[in-house]
Amino acid sequence: VLDLAVTLAGALDGARRSLAEAGWAEPRLEAAELYSLLVCGPASAAWSDRERAISPSLAARIEAAVRLRCAGQPRQYAAGRACFRGHWLRVDGRVLIPRPETEGLVELVVEWAAGRCREAPAAPPPLVADIGTGSGAIAISLALEAPVSGVIATDTSPGALSLAIENATLLGARERIGFRRGSFLEPLLEDVVDAVVSNPPYITSGELDSLDREVRDFEPLLALDGGPDGLGPTRRIAEQAGRFLAPGGLIALETDSRRAGAAAAVLTHAGFEQVEVRDDLYGRPRYVLGRRAENG
Ligand code: SAM
Ligand code: GLN
Repeated sequence: VLDLAVTLAGALDGARRSLAEAGWAEPRLEAAELYSLLVCGPASAAWSDRERAISPSLAARIEAAVRLRCAGQPRQYAAGRACFRGHWLRVDGRVLIPRPETEGLVELVVEWAAGRCREAPAAPPPLVADIGTGSGAIAISLALEAPVSGVIATDTSPGALSLAIENATLLGARERIGFRRGSFLEPLLEDVVDAVVSNPPYITSGELDSLDREVRDFEPLLALDGGPDGLGPTRRIAEQAGRFLAPGGLIALETDSRRAGAAAAVLTHAGFEQVEVRDDLYGRPRYVLGRRAENG
C-alpha cells in the first residue's frame, strides 16, 4: 500500500515545509537552490530530477542542509558548496563564500596572463601569488584557467588553508599551487612572482555591524575586517609587493567600491605605475591594478 521509494519531489516537499515553518518567504525556491548546491548541479536541477528516487544518504544530506539553513546559515555553508567560475568548492565557516565580484578579478588576471604569453611566447609562463586565499577560489581558478607556471597561495588561517588544499586536491589543481601559512606576502620568502593578486579584507571595522546578518553572523571576521579605514591589508600588501614582484609585474586587488579611489592612491603611493580602477559586473569600481616599474 505504501510507495517506499522517496522521490526528490517528496523530499523537497518536506524541505519546503520545514523552511516555511522557519519563516522563509519562498521556501520552495529555497529548497530548490539548496538542492542544486548539494548536487553541484544547474539551478534547475530540483525540477529536472523531481521524479527520481533518491538514496537515503542524499535524503539525509538534504535534511542536514535544511536544518542549517533554518538556523540562519548562508545557503552555501548549509549545503557546504559554492560555485566559483564553474568550479565547485567546498565551503564552511572557516572561509569567506567566494563572490561573483571576485570572479571578475580572476578574469582580469587570466586576460593579463594570456596577453603576456602572446607577447612573449618564448618566456616561461608567469608565476602568480594569491594573498589571503580563503577557500582557494582565486588560486585554483588561475591554476586551472590561466597560462601560469604556478600559484603561491597564502593565508594566516590554518582552517582556511586546509580547506583550500582540500579544494585544490578535489579539483586537480594541487600540484600547481604552493600553499603557505603566514601573513600577506611574508611566506613568499625568496620567491619572485610576476603577479600579486588578492581579495583582501576591506570592510572598515565600523561598517562590520551594518553588514547583512548572514555575512556578519557567519562569515569569518578575519576575512572581512580591513581595520579602521578598511585599507590596512591593502596597504600592507602594496608595501610588500614591490619586494617580491618582478620588474613590470602586475598587482591586482579587489576593493570596496566606496574606496576604490583611495585604494588606487595606496598603489600609487607604494610606487606602482599605470595605476587604474576597473568596474565589476554591477558597474561599480571594484578592482585596482598597477605595474611595478621596469627599472625600479
Ligand atoms: N581569496 C578568497 C576569496 O576571494 O574568496 C578569500 C578572501 S577573504 C576576503 C580574505 C582572506 O584573507 C581570508 O581568507 C583571511 O583569512 C585572509 N587573511 C586575513 N589576514 C591575513 C594576513 N595577515 N595574511 C594572509 N591572509 C590573511
Ligand atoms: N565582498 C565582501 C562583502 O561585501 C567583503 C569581502 C572583503 O572584505 N574582501 O561582504
